[in-house]
Amino acid sequence: DNAPVTVLGLGAMGTALAGAFLDAGHPVTVWNRTAGRAADLVARGATEAATAAEAVSASPLVVVCLLNDDTVREVLDGAVGSLAGRTVVNLTNGTPRQAREAADRAAGHGVGYVDGGIMAVPPMIGTPGSLVLYSGSPEGFHAHERTLGALGRAMYLGEDAGLAALYDIALLSAMYGMFGGFFHALALTGSEKVPATEFAPLVAPWLTAMMAAFPGMAEAVDSGDHSAAASNLAMQATAYVNLLDASTDQGVSTELVEPMRALLDQGVAAGLGAGDVSSLVDLLRTAPAGT
Ligand code: NDP
Repeated sequence: DNAPVTVLGLGAMGTALAGAFLDAGHPVTVWNRTAGRAADLVARGATEAATAAEAVSASPLVVVCLLNDDTVREVLDGAVGSLAGRTVVNLTNGTPRQAREAADRAAGHGVGYVDGGIMAVPPMIGTPGSLVLYSGSPEGFHAHERTLGALGRAMYLGEDAGLAALYDIALLSAMYGMFGGFFHALALTGSEKVPATEFAPLVAPWLTAMMAAFPGMAEAVDSGDHSAAASNLAMQATAYVNLLDASTDQGVSTELVEPMRALLDQGVAAGLGAGDVSSLVDLLRTAPAGT
């Protein structure tokens, strides 16, 4: 399979994407706003186009990986005359609303639109650990599924172009929650001069053990039955105060951990204390906008 591919954007990620297509044997045309970032790719066989429109004209599949939605809009608007009949796969990070609006604009120009979310960092692209989420035009995705497979595992979520961004942002939310907890833990232990390198190895096994609760919590969220709890919410709300008090005693900011206390207290006030903390998901979903 040597279908040609165009890649717009040669930041850290766009460069990795173009490299993976080259490694898989595809003719690759690249474009970047600032010239000079394509030298290594050109040495590996890529063709550098002078304009985005010229790059678009080279391939039926146009993969876009730019800074943000405004940038994508600006670049695609500039190349719109060349886009009709092609498939745009936009792997720029964005929101579901941005993806749906991009799909609508593309449809108006006869362009197939697939949105994507890259669940990998650049060195992982093209390795088995890389996952890329896709949603949008089923024809566009399936026509280029094999080519896109060069980037990593390709998961198609459905015709609604916003789904890939929704999953992507949700996975990032889980990641930032984890990073926030890790950072707070290091600030706490660091307050007693425990080297981070000494404490950090304890964290991953602990989190891994706790993650075993995810499937049961997910079932409870789907069924709405949060009654089964080995560690009930009221007990956790009480213990959580120690986490905040210890942080304050140690001179560590509670800004990352304070919101969970408020939510646990809300759960107790709502009469959910005897059940599992998975009921907090319901509280988040029913929170009025802006809270
Ligand atoms: P970089 O900052 O390395 O690259 C940004 C790219 O956007 C460059 O090609 C830059 O061009 C281009 N760009 C910025 N502004 C404009 C503009 N106004 N007009 C045209 N081009 C513009 O970012 P990454 O490559 O790391 O990330 C790209 C996307 O991939 C982002 O949406 C990011 O969230 C996503 N992503 C990145 C991951 C990562 O770990 N790096 C992981 C998963 C997703 P120029 O060279 O001219 O500045």
